Amino acid sequence: MPEVKKRGLIKRFIRLITFVDLPIRRKFSLFSIGVLFWFVLLSCVSFYVLIDVNIKTAQVVDSLLPYERFAQDVLRKSKEIDRLVADLAQASNEQTLSLKSERIKSGLQAISQSHDQLDAPRMQSPIRLIWNRLSANDWIDEVGNRAYLETVALSTASLRQLLSEITYLKVEQINGGDNRSQLEKLTGRFGAAEGELTSASVGFLESISQQTNRYSSSITTTTSYAFWMIITVLTLASGLLAIFTFWISDSIVLPVTSMITKIHTLATGHVDLTDKIVVRSDDEIGEMSQEFNDLMDTVHGMTVFKNVIEEDATLEDVYSRMGEAFSVNVGIDNYRIYEVSSDYKGMQAVFPIAISDKELDCHPDILTSCDLCRAVKTGHSISSLAYDRVCKQFMDDQNKVHVCVPMIIGGHAGGVVQFVFDKEGEHALTRNEIEQKVAKAEAYIKQSLSVLEAKRLMNTLRESSLRDPMTGLFNRRFLQDQASHLIAGTLRRNKIIGLLMCDIDFFKQVNDQYGHDAGDQVLKETSAIIVKSVRESDVVVRFGGEEFLVVLTDVELGDGLIVAEKIRSNIEDKVFIVGAEKIRKTISIGVSEYQTDSDGFWQCIKYADVALYQAKENGRNKALRFEESMWTAEEF
Ligand code: GH3
Ligand code: MG
Ligand code: MG
Repeated sequence: MPEVKKRGLIKRFIRLITFVDLPIRRKFSLFSIGVLFWFVLLSCVSFYVLIDVNIKTAQVVDSLLPYERFAQDVLRKSKEIDRLVADLAQASNEQTLSLKSERIKSGLQAISQSHDQLDAPRMQSPIRLIWNRLSANDWIDEVGNRAYLETVALSTASLRQLLSEITYLKVEQINGGDNRSQLEKLTGRFGAAEGELTSASVGFLESISQQTNRYSSSITTTTSYAFWMIITVLTLASGLLAIFTFWISDSIVLPVTSMITKIHTLATGHVDLTDKIVVRSDDEIGEMSQEFNDLMDTVHGMTVFKNVIEEDATLEDVYSRMGEAFSVNVGIDNYRIYEVSSDYKGMQAVFPIAISDKELDCHPDILTSCDLCRAVKTGHSISSLAYDRVCKQFMDDQNKVHVCVPMIIGGHAGGVVQFVFDKEGEHALTRNEIEQKVAKAEAYIKQSLSVLEAKRLMNTLRESSLRDPMTGLFNRRFLQDQASHLIAGTLRRNKIIGLLMCDIDFFKQVNDQYGHDAGDQVLKETSAIIVKSVRESDVVVRFGGEEFLVVLTDVELGDGLIVAEKIRSNIEDKVFIVGAEKIRKTISIGVSEYQTDSDGFWQCIKYADVALYQAKENGRNKALRFEESMWTAEEF
């Protein structure tokens, strides 16, 4: 087996037996089961030793000790009988003889009685019976013991027989009979039997002492086995417990300590957000480490994100960065960022920009009156997860779920981010997943708010410096700033720029007849008519007091004069209501075309002014296209 593979297998085996990848609860319950196992094992060993010692001791008490006592008793009694028989042989009258004979008989009787008692069956406990069967008690010599009992029984019987014969012969002798030799023979036989009994008893006592020795050595063997077993079990158990404790605590303590250190340093701001916690296990701690790493990623991503958008040049850049964060970092692909206009009336989709209203998930009415948007109106998040069909403006409630998060800038909803999710199908997410994603996206929105506010403020400031406050039209400065952009775009698209210089005819009269305020009103209304008469992409500039320059971007040759005529006729048709009076005004317009008349933009403006002068000269209320002949006129 290759070395690497082997090491991998060993590692996996260690992970398996140390429960590293199991959930914490299972880890600890298995750990407890392990501890319990070793306890039970130790208890079993101790229990075995206790029972073994107890039963063997009981066997000694029950079987050996009574036998030993019996044998000693037999020895003592047989010595006494020996002495009595010698006395009996010396007896000179019948009375002494029968007395001695009776004492010997009762001695023999006593031996038989204690023999019978020894033979009587004893009560055995069931445990002992089972144990006797299971454990080999070869240290007890049952056969030898029984043989001794039989020897005693036989000897006492023959001694009794011999005694009665000796007594009979002795009575005969006392009464004058001559049976000395017969009596001596019988006495000799009695002595021999007696001797046999004594030596059997002595032999038996020796065997008993051997059995007792065997018992002690058996107990010693059992206890020493038990001792070594307990030592082994204890060593094994403590070794394993130490390893387990080390592994389990290691897999918990290391990541937690690492997390604590990170959290501490996070508070000081000196943490390396890219330095991850090592995920060591597949349990809750491993999961927690992973989540923590993800959190660090998010924090890191968020910090970097804020730094980047702060340096972005325009609002559009910030919106597109936000969009990128939603799709790449959060994983939401279907979203749209809306910006509420600075007058809080309308709103527009700024990222991704909607080419047509049909692309929007909401009714296009919200674009003109943003109050219809529930998120803008309420200033808090609107989620169809929390309440189905919560917003009437969302059009595909059937198949989609939406969460709209307002961007609160300066106390107002300055915009809304709409997140849309599929209700069903392969991309459908659970409510929990959606809420998690939205929460993460909200963190990015929160980070962006201050930047959006600053950028919008900057835009407003720049706008106000580039607009004429009375009419709301762009001022000359704007034209100076933006001329190069306008020119570059138009040239890129291979189009021309129409320049219309407009001047209200006899405007002074309005001031003179109706006052300056009436003059202002006519100026404002005239501006509005001019703005309405041209496309949204065209630029209307208040060029002077009652002079306006219209820059028509991306037009074709000849378009300028047509638009100028339209403006002229719209003004001519307009009835200004000044106080109680109704007045009409006319306008004169000079038209030139950039690139056609000259490749100098400001030169072309001059040409338009020349054409305007001609229109005035030719009777006013006219739109005139610049011709080269006008330039050669002496006035210039
Ligand atoms: P024409 O252009 O037809 O030759 O005659 P006109 O009377 O319009 O020409 P002129 O340039 O002599 O007069 C322009 C007047 O517009 C002078 C000025 O008082 C007035 N005017 C300029 N700016 C404002 C403004 O902001 N408000 C008001 N009420 N009047 C203004
Ligand atoms: Mg004028
Ligand atoms: Mg004028």
